[in-house]
Amino acid sequence: MTAFVFSEPNFDAHEQVVFACEPKSGLKAIIAVHNTNLGPAMGGCRMWNYRDEAQAVNDVLRLSRGMTYKNAVAGLPIGGGKSVIIGNPKTDKTPALFEALGEALERLGGRYVTAEDVGTHHHDMAHVASKTSYVAGLGASGDPSPYTALGCFVGAQAAVKHHLGRDSMEGLVVALQGLGNVGYDYARRLKQAGARLIVADIDQAALERAQAELGAQVVAVEAIYDVEADIYAPCALGATLNLGTLDRLKARIVAGAANNQLATAEIGELLRQKGVLYAPDFVINAGGIIKVCYEYLDKPENEVEAHVRRIGETLAEVFVRADREQLPTSTVADRLAEARFKR
Ligand code: NAD
Repeated sequence: MTAFVFSEPNFDAHEQVVFACEPKSGLKAIIAVHNTNLGPAMGGCRMWNYRDEAQAVNDVLRLSRGMTYKNAVAGLPIGGGKSVIIGNPKTDKTPALFEALGEALERLGGRYVTAEDVGTHHHDMAHVASKTSYVAGLGASGDPSPYTALGCFVGAQAAVKHHLGRDSMEGLVVALQGLGNVGYDYARRLKQAGARLIVADIDQAALERAQAELGAQVVAVEAIYDVEADIYAPCALGATLNLGTLDRLKARIVAGAANNQLATAEIGELLRQKGVLYAPDFVINAGGIIKVCYEYLDKPENEVEAHVRRIGETLAEVFVRADREQLPTSTVADRLAEARFKR
């Protein structure tokens, strides 16, 4: 299959797309720099066994563009970019592969800063760092997931206040999908705030822990869309808000960490028509990148939490504008980001 770049729907005026190849290590990577108006592009490096090159191009462009929006709306002094390595993360990883990526990043002179992502680990990033300084989140201060969870929690609070007119989570029912690094911590915060949890995961051990520690009620993976809940919190997969799930959802609020929750853009409008308040994914899940950015730019560690908490204020602004302009919250969040990064 031929991969097209300029005509890709997600190309969207990318400043630069680099195809990096290094035969000795077997590196085949694509580095996409979407926009650097606000600062150097920052976004993780994904390693994935792509079906073909077209799929890799599509993925990197989509993710890179998304990072520009996420970073801009989070008020960070960085632009958006992403990289992908074509290969199987279980069998194809070598130190030389990541060193070769580091050399490719070094040649970009700091226009793009990478970090770990799906299929890569901070141990891999240490090999990248042996060839370049343009790498963030080396694990020095640990996993950024707790900050993503905090952002989700303050985002859910803002949604509850706006849509249900309540300052408290007491007694609210949350249907939470995915008890991983972010989901579990988010669930813990919700429980502490008085919410009741209904959870689903494919990992039995995570479910047992949530039952024992958080008193969560467990449902089958597919049943999470049908439960009676006030909030649906997707913290596992993308595209769970789709034409197949929309009619099943009972929740009045969607507030979760997963990336790319809307299967298509028009789902945003359908949620609005259904009276469901959707906290746009790239706004509510920015806590992790805020943490990583502070670390990379050597900004004061003790200011990270306050910055993450501002996600709640940003969402409140998005919700008010969406009501006023009768637009989906996803569209309003896009416009907010564009007003910041577009020149
Ligand atoms: P994770 O891999 O630690 O957790 C994912 C969890 O989802 C796992 O427990 C897994 O078993 C479960 N899961 C997988 N398939 C499932 C299914 N069909 N139904 C129910 N559960 C299922 O990942 P994470 O770091 O917690 O991230 C969760 C989501 O949030 C991902 O979509 C990720 O892209 C997004 N996100 C994470 C961060 C972060 O800081 N980690 C930041 C932004 C966005």
